[in-house]
Amino acid sequence: MIRADLHIHTTYSDDSTVTPKTLVEKLNAHNSIKAAAVTDHDTVKGLNETRKLASAYPDILIIPGVEISTPEGDLLVLGAEENPPKPWTVENVVDFARNNDYISVVAHPYREYGMGDLARNYKVDAIEVINGESTPQANKMAHDLAKSMKLPGTAGSDAHSPSEPLTVYTEIQADLNVDEILKAIKKGLVTTHSTARSIHF
Ligand SMILES: [Zn+2]
Repeated sequence: MIRADLHIHTTYSDDSTVTPKTLVEKLNAHNSIKAAAVTDHDTVKGLNETRKLASAYPDILIIPGVEISTPEGDLLVLGAEENPPKPWTVENVVDFARNNDYISVVAHPYREYGMGDLARNYKVDAIEVINGESTPQANKMAHDLAKSMKLPGTAGSDAHSPSEPLTVYTEIQADLNVDEILKAIKKGLVTTHSTARSIHF
């Protein structure tokens, strides 16, 4: 079993002040959360630097990813090392994830830039049920959406500042290995947790 924060923005996102170095140092210092997905806005450019820094520490793992802005709301693609082909419609991004064995996740469905109930129209792989920047009420609605769509839930801090990474995490029945982690999420071998609030769906 591992613990991973599945939604983090580095300074490769215009609106984040979390440097790759800060993220790697936080993972190294944490006693149980040893994996994190880098999910910058519309770019995978932060991945190389972050992975290079992380390679100095054998017991931490950077999971590739990206947060794609679609006209209907934000979609995380976990596992992605490159951007999906444009145009970035929900359908194209979901297909891109499926065809490459990545995972499409509806990010923070019930806040700004969230897909809301539109998520029901697509064959997404998972719903983000705890987002560190969402209200407890919005997270509860996301949890209910995942339940009614019979999809796994994921959790991530959506960190944009240095104090935020690893405050929210997903517990995954897998070893510290990207392929195993993606497969386990798809199978729903996950539970979601927040250290900031007492939310345990
Ligand atoms: Zn985000």
